[in-house]
Amino acid sequence: MNVYDTTRMYDVMAPLGYTPSNSYEDADMVILNTCHIREKAEDKVFSDLGRVRLEKEKKKAGGEKMLIAVGGCVGQAEGAEIITRAPYVDMVFGSQSYHQLPEMVTKAIRDGGGVVELDFPQVQKFDLLPEVSNTQGVSAFLSVQEGCDKFCSFCVVPYTRGAEYSRPLAAVIYEASKLVDGGAKEITLLGQNVNAYHGEMTDGKTASLAYTIDALAQINGLERIRYITSHPRDMSDDLIAIHGSEKKLMPYLHLPVQAGSDEILKKMNRKHTRDFYFEIIEKLRKTRPDIALSCDFIVGFPSETDENFEDTMDLIRRVNYASAYSFKYSPRPGTPAATDENQVPELIKQERLARLQALIHEQQTTFNQSMVGKTLKVLFDREGKHNGQLLGKSEYMQSVYVKEIEGLRGKITDVKITGGFLNSLTGEVIN
Ligand code: SAH
Ligand code: SF4
Repeated sequence: MNVYDTTRMYDVMAPLGYTPSNSYEDADMVILNTCHIREKAEDKVFSDLGRVRLEKEKKKAGGEKMLIAVGGCVGQAEGAEIITRAPYVDMVFGSQSYHQLPEMVTKAIRDGGGVVELDFPQVQKFDLLPEVSNTQGVSAFLSVQEGCDKFCSFCVVPYTRGAEYSRPLAAVIYEASKLVDGGAKEITLLGQNVNAYHGEMTDGKTASLAYTIDALAQINGLERIRYITSHPRDMSDDLIAIHGSEKKLMPYLHLPVQAGSDEILKKMNRKHTRDFYFEIIEKLRKTRPDIALSCDFIVGFPSETDENFEDTMDLIRRVNYASAYSFKYSPRPGTPAATDENQVPELIKQERLARLQALIHEQQTTFNQSMVGKTLKVLFDREGKHNGQLLGKSEYMQSVYVKEIEGLRGKITDVKITGGFLNSLTGEVIN
């Protein structure tokens, strides 16, 4: 979502003559678009700020200026504190106010910094943003939903991104068609709880995510649709069904469960059980047998016992994932779990995370190796790590490397898979 927001900041700043830059040296302004989800992400902001400060000082020595801004969820959560801690920062703004960047920049230049903008405006920023220009290329993100009303006891999202909000269907379809006009072949619909999407329609009814996917699939030139991130409780039957009927919807689903123990799920305020999750997985696999599943896990949530953790390991074995993200529980200020007295010691968290990741890596490698010899459709969108290599994504979201062939970039092509590894596949382009 921060990647998407950043591209919209480009759109907002373009009329003022600002364009994206590849280096600090060239930049008149540096915006750190930040994440508050775990402490590690937050710490990164301050170490990055240290680096940007040096650039600002270098410029100053040469008689030039540089504006430094902190946007996104750390900006939202810490506000003016950031300027107290790092006085060389000129502007701090939250995740809902970046449409006001031109005014903020003008003020910062006029007043020599000190701009803090944290409002959750009455008018949605989406209604005030300029038309999207596709700066994202062949594979583009599109935010359809923001915020969250679920209040899981570990999570800052409801506080930093605000209440759940869905963009109207017409706005989503319009933006998607603009992205496609600008060259997008794949669109990933974004939301903190994207499957809770319920966009207003012109007739006053609301569109579900499944309805929206169906509508987007009608856009000529759009070839792939994905959506992320979903909550198990919002995995409605119409959404499961469309995985079986809509060919443009990719056979991949990121469906975080966080933990495999009912006791912990309850303390997390997830409002679903492990059996409920298994039922959804079963329905999905019945509808789309080859669907690749991905997940998020938190280990070492307060009071998690060895037995609770084994329940998570058991869930992973039963589901069998194509990939997953996993994190040590990170206490976040202002969330209920942060003040729980039964915090799990760091060493135990580390041990559990290592075991969980080893299991996930095993499943992921097996999944990737099972592709060897098969022909997959791959959308190539960037250069590979090595010279003369192209990198693309399979329908199952795997990274696929091939030898570069002229004209291949930006296309969906059949690739015969020759190698399967932990994080990628290799292959040969057919024809
Ligand atoms: N809405 C999604 C998740 C959004 S947050 C859902 O409900 O599943 C992205 C991921 O960050 C979460 O899935 C969770 O695994 C992780 N996360 C959130 N808060 C965390 C915390 N306090 N400590 C560790 N991981 C956390
Ligand atoms: Fe955070 Fe997701 Fe829970 Fe909302 S549903 S509080 S975004 S983990």
